[in-house]
Amino acid sequence: MTDALPGRLVLLGHPVSHSLSPVFQNAALRRADIALVYEALDVAPEALDDTLARLVAQRAAGNVTIPHKDAVFRACQVTSAVAARAEAVNTFWVDDLGRLSGDNTDVAGFDALADHVGVERAGAIVACIGSGGAAAAVCTAVERWPGATLRLYGRSSGRSAALANRFPATVQLAGSPADALRGATTVVNATPIGMRDDALPVPVDELPRDARVMDLVYRPGETRWVREARRAGHLALDGCEMLLQQGAAAFERWFHRPADIVVMREALARASRR
Ligand code: NAP
Repeated sequence: MTDALPGRLVLLGHPVSHSLSPVFQNAALRRADIALVYEALDVAPEALDDTLARLVAQRAAGNVTIPHKDAVFRACQVTSAVAARAEAVNTFWVDDLGRLSGDNTDVAGFDALADHVGVERAGAIVACIGSGGAAAAVCTAVERWPGATLRLYGRSSGRSAALANRFPATVQLAGSPADALRGATTVVNATPIGMRDDALPVPVDELPRDARVMDLVYRPGETRWVREARRAGHLALDGCEMLLQQGAAAFERWFHRPADIVVMREALARASRR
């Protein structure tokens, strides 16, 4: 990666206006005196190739969110080992040779969230509900936890089987949510369930005793699943910390220096309350 500043800093998604990333990335940019503004760009899938070509010419860098993480992974000429394992890119830049380059900081973000909720990694039994891009990041992280197993349940059995097949040493396919939950020490929601309403990915009274609860979804006031799991005695957190940590890791990829995570966390907390 070049030491020169990127020409532009963007978030690619569709839709993207709801994202809180601009709030905390711009707070970190101001704090670091970097003369760039992080902009959310709503890019329809059919416009992605042209947009990427333009961004490479502008030596842009940025993040990628739903639904473009797979497509940007395929478009990158260089990817980190983690992005290659997850087959998804959420952070990109243009390197010294002008090549579109990508990493996946969702994996580090998930690991940081696991730390915050007190997950014991060694020998963990992780139940993961959902089998899309976020679940692929979860599989990539858990694969590196010593002796850990991940039980994957997704409503589309073909998609779940395809993901499980990429991680045969770690991931077992579960036939039902109950099957995934049996004996789990950590339960992860990697679906959007609970983002816009109070639906629950799995009923709280079916969570195994003492299981840590990680909801990758975040919304103001936390999700109902996290609130109820905590009330039932579980250590539980929503996806806010993961969002923050993946963003801080991305900042470091772009600028070769750590972001001020305290400033980012305060900006995110203020925006979440609004
Ligand atoms: P994705 O690639 O679209 O995958 C979504 C998964 O959820 C798929 O397995 C999908 O099943 C399943 N699903 C969707 N709606 C469902 C429903 N009503 N009932 C049961 N299953 C359902 O999305 P993603 O990138 O994995 O993201 C998933 C969630 O994680 C999103 O809410 C996203 O905001 C969140 N996320 C948070 C962070 C963070 O930093 N906190 C990072 C990444 C993602 P089908 O395959 O059958 O459609």
